[in-house]
Amino acid sequence: MKTSELFNNKRVLSFEIFPPKRTSGIETIYSAVNELKTLSPDFISVTYGAGGSDTNENTLKIASAVKNDYGVLSVAHLPSVNLDKNDVLLLLSELKSAGIENILALRGDINPDYPPKNCFKYASDLISFIKENGDFNIIAACYPEGHYESKNLVNDIRNLKIKVDSGADHLITQLFFDNNYFYSFRERAAIAGIDVPIQAGIMPVVNKKQIERMVTLCKVDLPKKFLSFMNRYEHNEAAMRDAGIAYAVDQIVDLLSEGVDGIHLYTMNNPYIARRIYEAVASLMN
Ligand code: FAD
Repeated sequence: MKTSELFNNKRVLSFEIFPPKRTSGIETIYSAVNELKTLSPDFISVTYGAGGSDTNENTLKIASAVKNDYGVLSVAHLPSVNLDKNDVLLLLSELKSAGIENILALRGDINPDYPPKNCFKYASDLISFIKENGDFNIIAACYPEGHYESKNLVNDIRNLKIKVDSGADHLITQLFFDNNYFYSFRERAAIAGIDVPIQAGIMPVVNKKQIERMVTLCKVDLPKKFLSFMNRYEHNEAAMRDAGIAYAVDQIVDLLSEGVDGIHLYTMNNPYIARRIYEAVASLMN
């Protein structure tokens, strides 16, 4: 099934997981998937670190297991910055063999240690290429606060329109902590004629280190309300976790009330946190 079809009848709930670090075995992710499955997600997506630091082998293996062993619709992330056309063709044929028809097509971050191959300058180039080479459903990334390389929000939305016109069937946002950014972005997207479903990406933040890393990577704004609990509870693990969960639930309740197409939860491979959030909002999803 294609993820874009899910939005016809309901608000979509999905989870994102990442392949475990090389030091811990790949099997550690499967107990998380087993638990996430009990929360009936519409799909689970599996990341793939661009920049040469990761291989796509584990992403493929996990995405295939999610679909074929756990019976949950899966999405494979595919950043192309360090790939050439033959690499992508090979991946497409592997995905097809595994029965995976949903791809989150990305450019990926440029890592100075691994110069880009420049075959796919932007995600839109990759999307066109995938569309020409198979019947895949394409998901693409979008940025409520603007992508960090963009000159301004107008340029960013024009580039997003190119991405959608190239064949993106559905969008997932970068994480954000102030829903007003999402609402303004959704309005800009509508004005630009972007009419594919937009799922809001929500990350429950349960420790300060996690957010410091995320802010460096994603350059998102941290509202005062968010910083207050981070600062107050940074040395109290349980309080920090509970406050992070409550903050994410509050964001999701507001988004659902405002008619968001769906929620994509960055689970950080933590099914306990996903469950707490799921239980708090499950009755609101329909
Ligand atoms: P693009 O859409 O190519 O955009 C990159 C920049 O180029 C933007 O500033 C854009 O405005 C500009 N641009 C785009 N098209 C044009 C054009 N035609 N002309 C001029 N400028 C243009 N990274 C990973 O490595 N692995 C993952 O698994 C992963 N998963 C992600 C999941 C989600 C939901 C999100 C939101 C991000 C994810 N990322 C992942 C991060 C992503 O790779 C980075 O944010 C990367 O910097 C941009 O990727 P993109 O596909 O959005 O790029």
